Amino acid sequence: MKISNNEKVIGYFGFPSRRILGEARKRYGERLELVDLDVAVGAPDSGLLNTTTCRIIANVIDNAVYLSGRLAAVVADVGESKCDRGRHAAFLLREMGFEVMESRFPRDEFENRDLIYSTGRGPLPDRINAIMDTVVDPTDPGREAVTSCEPTHGFWGVPPNDFRILEVFPETTHIFGWTRCVEAGRPGDLEMECYVEEGLPTVFFAQSFCAKQDLAHHLAGRNNGLYVDCHRSVNHSILSKVEAFIKLS
Ligand code: SF4
Repeated sequence: MKISNNEKVIGYFGFPSRRILGEARKRYGERLELVDLDVAVGAPDSGLLNTTTCRIIANVIDNAVYLSGRLAAVVADVGESKCDRGRHAAFLLREMGFEVMESRFPRDEFENRDLIYSTGRGPLPDRINAIMDTVVDPTDPGREAVTSCEPTHGFWGVPPNDFRILEVFPETTHIFGWTRCVEAGRPGDLEMECYVEEGLPTVFFAQSFCAKQDLAHHLAGRNNGLYVDCHRSVNHSILSKVEAFIKLS
């Protein structure tokens, strides 16, 4: 979440359809900055959720409360493209008095964008950040600088709360799961979300208390990969497990 001045902003979470994001801009101000509320930026704990809420939804609520009067509106991804917790967060925010626009990303708005970052070479945290930036700006001129590569490893999952887990992956790691769907412009495409390359050593990551743990666990078993989940920050034991898997595979 980057906020460059003291103006009002439009918050969003998940991957709202581009049509609804456009409508929000028309309604609340074309020039207002769009900020991603999913991302941990050190907002104080609002204390409004229980401790077993997934950390990403906790970020959404904490960031909204932190920004408070500066939020012109929140565009909430409440469809299959996110999870039920997104829908519940939208409800809670509305109850708290925030202006909320809901978005369900329908299949007939699915895109078929090239998977430049998912199949390219480069630091994994940078490529995942670049993918998430395309939610707001799909033109993304940076894509041209990325070179494709043969994968040595795979990362499957959502952008984690703590990006340090991504730093242990080699630059030749390909991206799968929901993050890949975001790059393609198909955030509710379950078939694409479950695709991984056969035989590729892949780490299946999910936030703790997330429904995607079921998918990650199942897919890791089916593909002989490594399943990991973590809640807030990654600890040494998780990092060592991932590092060992990468080294030995
Ligand atoms: S990590 Fe899982 S539970 Fe949390 S917001 Fe994302 S999809 Fe929903």
